[in-house]
Amino acid sequence: MFKGSKLYSILNFKCPRCHKGSFYKAKHPYEFYKIGKVHSHCSECHLKYEIETGFYQGSYYVTYALGVALFISVCTIGYLLGIRSPFQLFFGFVSILLITSPILYALSKIIWINIFVNYKKKKE
Ligand SMILES: [Zn+2]
Repeated sequence: MFKGSKLYSILNFKCPRCHKGSFYKAKHPYEFYKIGKVHSHCSECHLKYEIETGFYQGSYYVTYALGVALFISVCTIGYLLGIRSPFQLFFGFVSILLITSPILYALSKIIWINIFVNYKKKKE
């Protein structure tokens, strides 16, 4: 599903160009000793993942946007569930942020490279 779209690469943590090679060294975002470690090249199409030195510093903007989206989501859902205390909403946000931060970190890098690299179907 979504094969050929950027969403496929992002959700499956696959190479943005071929959608076959894995992007991260870890098998899932909660493998803490490999957290955020990206392969140097794609194993299938040999795309260099670090396009230039410090390339992934721009992914901080993506992390910020994801954090804001999470904050708005948690506050909205909390408000709809009847939580009116700002302290409780903030505590709920911080708790969920701590739990989901490895996923947000992993998503930020793969979203960032997907902004610059497009999918190319390999001719067979
Ligand atoms: Zn590839």
